[in-house]
Amino acid sequence: MEWINSLPKIELHAHLNGSIRDSTLLELARVLGDKGVIVFTDVEDVIKKNDRSLAEVFKLFDLIHKLTTDHKTVTRITREVVEDFALENVVYLELRTTSKRNDSIGMSKCSYMEAVIEGLKSISEVEVEFVSASDSRKLDNVCDGIHRKKIYVRLLLSIDRRETTESAIETVKLALEMKNVGVVGIDLSGNPLVGEW
Ligand SMILES: [Zn+2]
Repeated sequence: MEWINSLPKIELHAHLNGSIRDSTLLELARVLGDKGVIVFTDVEDVIKKNDRSLAEVFKLFDLIHKLTTDHKTVTRITREVVEDFALENVVYLELRTTSKRNDSIGMSKCSYMEAVIEGLKSISEVEVEFVSASDSRKLDNVCDGIHRKKIYVRLLLSIDRRETTESAIETVKLALEMKNVGVVGIDLSGNPLVGEW
């Protein structure tokens, strides 16, 4: 494991929501439990478990959707996930995420993605390059005297099969608009038995 860890690696399909630290999931679940939104003890086991069945995985995905609804949390998990990949010596990371619209908290697909970008900008533990080379220079930290790990991060916007065509087109347009901040593609995701894609 140590040798594998030390190798520089390329990760071409990491799910943002699927890569959240267990400690963060437990912390967020506890908060929602205290608010009475979920029953913490019902979900504690499935978070801590290592060998989950497919049914348990989808149960966990449902829980994660409830835990990561606000901008602040999206920013936090983006920061932590990228830091974790960098510390495992991933040097190039394509992170895919489904930009969500949630009118009740004033979240649009665009503001969701802004929260992701905010997360990338807030990383100080490692050096992150996520915009095209010509634009990246102004973001570089120069002369801090410390040699830090560097990770290149690119984003894939995902379309959930349950979404309407209109909503899917919105994601495609957003991906095109965000080409200059590291978006390199789109992804079709979700339960393949649902919808008519
Ligand atoms: Zn996937």
